[in-house]
Amino acid sequence: MLDMLKSVFSNLSKKPATRMYPFVERKPFDINRGHLENDIEKCIFCGMCQRVCPSNCIKVDRKNGVWEYDPFECVICGVCVEKCPKKSLRLDTHYRSCTDKKYDVHLERHEDSEKAGA
Ligand code: SF4
Ligand code: SF4
Repeated sequence: MLDMLKSVFSNLSKKPATRMYPFVERKPFDINRGHLENDIEKCIFCGMCQRVCPSNCIKVDRKNGVWEYDPFECVICGVCVEKCPKKSLRLDTHYRSCTDKKYDVHLERHEDSEKAGA
């Protein structure tokens, strides 16, 4: 009992060992593979990412200028990022929450889609 009280009082004067997640998030490491992002303005809808993806989770519709991927199938291997000829793909260091609408997985670019890949 005395040992426990010692621990309680000593811990009261120390900084907490854990963070109040999700209110306080740890800054991700620079090499973190969080989630995939596509700068759709640079994308030419060539379909290379779809062809090299080992999880088959990218769909490229060149005709309609649509690029989308399934984040629940993605294994964050980074192969698509390496192979993208326009460097429009990148792996962001932040993890994507399944409720977070900020990270779009369905991207469309209608203008210039006729010229895409030309
Ligand atoms: S490889 Fe790059 S340019 Fe080609 S469709 Fe994928 S994201 Fe777009
Ligand atoms: S990171 Fe890997 S698994 Fe995810 S979309 Fe790209 S190639 Fe597919």
